[in-house]
Amino acid sequence: MIRFEDLLEKVRAYSPDADVEMLRRAYVFSAFEHRGQVRHSGEPYLIHPLAVADFLADMKLDAVAIAAGLLHDVVEDTLTTIDRIQELFGPEVAHVVEGVTKISAISFSSSEERQAENFRKMLLAMVDDIRVILVKLADRLHNMRTLNHLPEERRNKVAQETRDIYAPIANRLGMSKVKNELEELSFRYLEPKAYEALRAKVDATRRATEGLIGELKKTITAKLAEADVPVIEIDGRIKRLWSISQKLKRQKIEMEQVYDFIALRIIADDVKDCYAALGIIHQTWSPVPGRIKDFIAMPRPNGYQSLHTSVISEHGMPFEVQIRTIEMHRRAEEGIAAHWKYKEGRVGDHRDDRYFQWMRQLLEYQQEVRDPQEFIQNLKVELYPEEVYTFTPKGLVKALPRGATAIDFAYSIHTDIGHQCVGARVNGKIVPLRTRLKNGDIVEIVTQTGHRPSRDWLNFAATSRARNKIKHLIHSEEKARSVELGRKLFEKEARRYDINPKTIVDSEELAKALADFTVQKVDDLFAAIGYGKVQPKQVLVKLVPADKLHEKPPEGAVAAVVRRVLGSGEEKIKVRGFDDVMVFRARCCSPIRGEKIVGYITRGKGVSVHSATCPNVVNLLYDPERRIDVEWDKTDAVGRYTVKLTMEVEDRKGLLAAVSAKIADINTNIRNMEARTDEDQRARIDMTIEISDLKHLEKVIKSLRGVEGVLGVERAGRAS
Ligand code: MN
Repeated sequence: MIRFEDLLEKVRAYSPDADVEMLRRAYVFSAFEHRGQVRHSGEPYLIHPLAVADFLADMKLDAVAIAAGLLHDVVEDTLTTIDRIQELFGPEVAHVVEGVTKISAISFSSSEERQAENFRKMLLAMVDDIRVILVKLADRLHNMRTLNHLPEERRNKVAQETRDIYAPIANRLGMSKVKNELEELSFRYLEPKAYEALRAKVDATRRATEGLIGELKKTITAKLAEADVPVIEIDGRIKRLWSISQKLKRQKIEMEQVYDFIALRIIADDVKDCYAALGIIHQTWSPVPGRIKDFIAMPRPNGYQSLHTSVISEHGMPFEVQIRTIEMHRRAEEGIAAHWKYKEGRVGDHRDDRYFQWMRQLLEYQQEVRDPQEFIQNLKVELYPEEVYTFTPKGLVKALPRGATAIDFAYSIHTDIGHQCVGARVNGKIVPLRTRLKNGDIVEIVTQTGHRPSRDWLNFAATSRARNKIKHLIHSEEKARSVELGRKLFEKEARRYDINPKTIVDSEELAKALADFTVQKVDDLFAAIGYGKVQPKQVLVKLVPADKLHEKPPEGAVAAVVRRVLGSGEEKIKVRGFDDVMVFRARCCSPIRGEKIVGYITRGKGVSVHSATCPNVVNLLYDPERRIDVEWDKTDAVGRYTVKLTMEVEDRKGLLAAVSAKIADINTNIRNMEARTDEDQRARIDMTIEISDLKHLEKVIKSLRGVEGVLGVERAGRAS
């Protein structure tokens, strides 16, 4: 068992200025908070945080990381809060402990490789301080070392997670020592039979193998000395069982056929000596073709550098040799942890694009910062700044670009889920669809059959997938609407000349004339009419001889009759002869029954009906070509139109009540009312009321003008 005083000794040895007092307080606090708790092994719980802190000290991390190691389970397993940690040990320690606690709360388990990759990315993305990962890896390493005390089911879950998530992360961070041990332990617990069988076989030849290793070392030492190539260390070992088993799987061979489970490592002074040593090795033994790898000139993405080769011994036995400098070796073993310790290492040279971007970022940080302690403190890396990782309620990870919203999430599941999306719950709470998602959000999409996307979604959909799907659907719906409207307009026009539209639509002449309108299909021609690009009369003129084109007497100088459709919340109106072609009251002026109105063909949305006094109409903002005549349908006896009024009133008590009472008096419903004070003792009231027709509205306005204190009443959206 590790003693705290030994840990302090270790820290002082590499960091004489470390805040020992803070570490002591962290130790005492952790011991107090975990008092009475025991590990599955039956030992006091405190053993665990101590072991984690000790491992972090082996990595020569700073006092913040070590304190966080001592405290890493306090928030998760006791009643202590992050705020309390911050109060006692400062924001940095609290930040690291919080990060570790957050990661520990998520269960990363997935057998699917792509999901595992997303989990790893998400985990890294959740971390803004690399010390969080280092503490978590130390935690996982100790838990794996003591895994035999856990019940089998838990054991498997932890080992699987370690293999899928933590070992690859250690690998990505270049920490091969940690990675190797995590892999080896996962193998032992996940495949106990295979592990034991392999171990038995390796053990059976262990003595012979160890003898051979000694022999090979002796030969290499002599050859290198002969050639005057200085080396620091020659190390030989039996390969790890996990890497042997992987080799068996990869090469599809039986255990009996594996005979190269020896690996030799040569540590040289500099790069020149590494290549010299490789030459000597190849002169002494025959290299296996295709097995020579130069990771010095071409480092692995995680920064790993070394020369690899396989050669065949005198006895016909292949073995592997790795050659590298002392700095390369330290980085290979400790990875990211080595970067701030051995800053003399020339690791900033790689401009290779395959290098991980974050690694470059780390190296850049390192060049700017002289003091390694300061380096750690400044180390706030965003490892995957361009992505955000979210979950489905079933725990699948969805990787989306930064800025993505619930809409993007919905479309990432399925196009129909996107189209029919009406709401979203993030972490159990209902949120607006435009809410940007954050790492770790659990997102649930609420759908409604038949629901359609709105154009507004394009303002906040971030993924091109969602945007394209939305645009596509809107365009095809608008097209369909325009075709429909165009067909109706054409039929109406034809009847005006007493011509049966069907005879024209089905005629060969029309098919021939399509090219003149630069369209290919009849539907395209109708769409052009529906968009207001082509006048229906132009088509008639083209196809009907002039002498047969006689306008009928004025039964319908009016092209359309507007009727309000009651019921639905949306303000839709009907135009006689147009069935349910979308005819709607323009929002700018909201015309009501009894008022003089005009219609305009919109691009794809149908006919918008404006008041003749609408400023947009008066100021000729609409293309006169698109204008069609409309009038109110007389059969629509009862109407209910919403109208917005703006009142200027004196700012005095009771006036709002008086206004409301007056409106209620004339049996009028108020939908919405807002009042605000202007300057000079004046106030403005905006309200939306429901009225049945123009006469009703006039009555309301008149009686409001009669209320004492009311200075003016205007209908919103009217040219005055
Ligand atoms: Mn722990």
